[in-house]
Amino acid sequence: MFYNGKEWVEFPLVSGDDEGFVNGYSIYDVLRTYSGIPYNLKRHYDRLKRSADFMALEIPPLEKIKIILNQAKKIHNYEEFRFKIYVTPFTSKYKTFYCFVEELKEDVDLIEEGVVVNIARERKSSSPIIPYYVKTPLNGSIKYIHKKYDYYYDSIILNEFGNVTEGTYSNIFYVSGGVLLTPHISSGILPGITREDVLELANDLSLEVEEKANVQVWELLSAEEVFLTHTSRGVVPVRRIFPDFTFTVPGVVTEAILDNWKDFITEKIED
Ligand code: PLP
Repeated sequence: MFYNGKEWVEFPLVSGDDEGFVNGYSIYDVLRTYSGIPYNLKRHYDRLKRSADFMALEIPPLEKIKIILNQAKKIHNYEEFRFKIYVTPFTSKYKTFYCFVEELKEDVDLIEEGVVVNIARERKSSSPIIPYYVKTPLNGSIKYIHKKYDYYYDSIILNEFGNVTEGTYSNIFYVSGGVLLTPHISSGILPGITREDVLELANDLSLEVEEKANVQVWELLSAEEVFLTHTSRGVVPVRRIFPDFTFTVPGVVTEAILDNWKDFITEKIED
């Protein structure tokens, strides 16, 4: 169900001259709950605000988002849910702030069996018109590349120099020689909130960690373990990169992160 800027509706009306609809001029963010409580709400809000500032869009205050989230909880009574926020420029006819709520069911197989990903043929520029920290469909168009590879959980995108960046909706980590590595922000990635938390947790667990610039494809393909991170699912082990590069699921380092993930998140929520 959507919150259309003033009330909850099944199908929101979007004006035909809405620039988000017509030109993709919009921003969005996605958050989720753990034990019914929004995960890192403030950090998601701050990221939305940074995106809004870059795109010269206005967003409602955090307090308003909290009210809408509470309404969503009451209306739907979902145990866990995903909450998407979309913002487009204001038109005279319609409010251009939408929230979308979707039930989130735990998928144990995903974590236990791991997923299969591919490396997309398409590359992304290392100097885009809109910086990669801005969450907008204009950057997210890379997602449509992934859609055509529908069989894969996500598609890994290389930049124009052939360096590993991230998935189309996730960040990527790999383990090599027992060290946990992830492409550096300078590779052209969205600074994922789950990525930051994994780095923090890895430090708490005294794991050796590196944010590495210029990650070559062979480094990823010869890793011992690989996993993805994104808000909706947290940490997702990769069992295979197409066609036949396989990884231990869960490997020792991934398992250490997974075993401590829920407690780490819960502690943050309680804070
Ligand atoms: N990278 C891209 C391109 C994304 O779109 C997303 C999330 O949607 C992520 C990474 C993961 O970010 P987060 O952990 O904040 O969900």
